[in-house]
Amino acid sequence: MTDTTTPEGAPGEPGQRPVPLEEQSGVGMPDAFARLYTPHRMAYIKGENRTDDNACPFCEIPSLTDEQGLVVARGDTVYAVLNLYPYNAGHLMVVPYRHVADYADLTPDEAVEMAFFMQKALRALRLASGAHGFNTGMNLGSIAGAGIAGHVHQHVVPRWGGDTNFMPVVGGTRVLPALLPDTRALLAEAWEKIATDG
Ligand SMILES: [Zn+2]
Repeated sequence: MTDTTTPEGAPGEPGQRPVPLEEQSGVGMPDAFARLYTPHRMAYIKGENRTDDNACPFCEIPSLTDEQGLVVARGDTVYAVLNLYPYNAGHLMVVPYRHVADYADLTPDEAVEMAFFMQKALRALRLASGAHGFNTGMNLGSIAGAGIAGHVHQHVVPRWGGDTNFMPVVGGTRVLPALLPDTRALLAEAWEKIATDG
């Protein structure tokens, strides 16, 4: 069985039960990297197969459940969501609900809550994953590399010592140690905990 959509335990193999595929909604932009999810189940990623080409995924995500949209936390004016095409495990984004392209056009309330959400994201990622460091930032405008340029979003990418190995460089594949739904649940739990503990 070489069909990449078929996880281990393909039908017909004695002693193995088929593992059901899980369709995964979410948000993000495909890039040149394949991603190798190391747990035994594979999620089928369908983020780019949207029926409406004009739909903005960052506007659509809040209408989904947390599980469907990979939403980690919801605030009054912004929310935090996992990237469907992560650079690293736990790669999330802080996004205003309002469809606005330019960070300079955020209202004071949006800008302040975005900053607070960035702080919470760092703390939740440290608590949940023991991240050693972070890359954070925004790509404003498609010329600057924004995949979804019409709706501003700030990336938070946790880093660990040794996380850059030969696989992304030579193999064109990122190795992600956890499935996105599991990562979302862990981060949402950590987010709740830091909110409660102060
Ligand atoms: Zn939007």
